[in-house]
Amino acid sequence: MLGHLSFDEIMTDDISYLFNNEMQVAVLRLDKLHPVISGNKWFKLRYYMEDAKAQGKNHIITFGGAWSNHIVATAAACKMNGLKATGIIRGEEPANYSPTLLKAKELGMEFIFISREEYKDKIVPEQFTSSQYYIINEGGAGEMGAKGATTILDYCEKNYTHYCCAVGTGTMMAGIINAVNTGQTVIGISVMKNNTGLEDDIRSLIHKDNTNWQLLHDYHFGGYAKHQPSLLAFMNQFYTQTKIPSDFVYTGKLFYAINDLIEKNFFPANSNLLIIHSGGLQGNDSLPKGTLIF
Ligand SMILES: *Cc1c(COP(=O)(O)O)cnc(C)c1O
Repeated sequence: MLGHLSFDEIMTDDISYLFNNEMQVAVLRLDKLHPVISGNKWFKLRYYMEDAKAQGKNHIITFGGAWSNHIVATAAACKMNGLKATGIIRGEEPANYSPTLLKAKELGMEFIFISREEYKDKIVPEQFTSSQYYIINEGGAGEMGAKGATTILDYCEKNYTHYCCAVGTGTMMAGIINAVNTGQTVIGISVMKNNTGLEDDIRSLIHKDNTNWQLLHDYHFGGYAKHQPSLLAFMNQFYTQTKIPSDFVYTGKLFYAINDLIEKNFFPANSNLLIIHSGGLQGNDSLPKGTLIF
């Protein structure tokens, strides 16, 4: 039912040939883990699963929207771990479920739909407050998510000068910051508009006094899950050149940003970059057919 899910498929692609300057640029292909359950969510969930089982809890409750990578990944992780899963979904129950919800349902997840207003507060419905339930934050955000994200770097070389990733809650970025050595820099591209609390959120999850990290807030294309023709055109062009598909919510903005930053000489000469492709391609199904060429 889960189909192909293989850590052996994770590899890096060298895309240095795209750039004229003396730079090495590689992409860590977490998207190759699985066509639907791909990417960083799988890593962020692994220790929550262990923790729930260690505590003897058999039912996971979590939050997300109708196109959430986290919802479908949680459904899959729970199925693999023999845990029940309930997704608290933002908005009224739709007449037609999104492919994301259909997949999560197929993986055994049940849903509770709540209004956008109520969703803002992330209050766990009363029927799920007893001790058998294990709550995971929206997006897998938090300490254990960051711990899982540190293990992303087990799948690549250790000698990069810069690690670049897309940032939603900042949990993955915090995990990467915790994983790198002093002298290595982490660059995060925020996919939200004016998410001013992000620096503090990340700082609260960092264990080392690594200060070699920077968040960039200028590549949101209008805000979370918003896009513009220039972004979609770039994603298609990037695919034509590299055969690497990206998603419009996270990794498209990341690749666009890093390409732009390289062109503007943001990185010192002879830098050796790793761009983390954090997966999430399933969300592209929300775009009109034909928008993307992959
Ligand atoms: C959730 C997600 C991110 C952001 O991860 P955070 O830990 O929330 O910052 C990045 N890329 C993809 C594909 C995601 O699904």
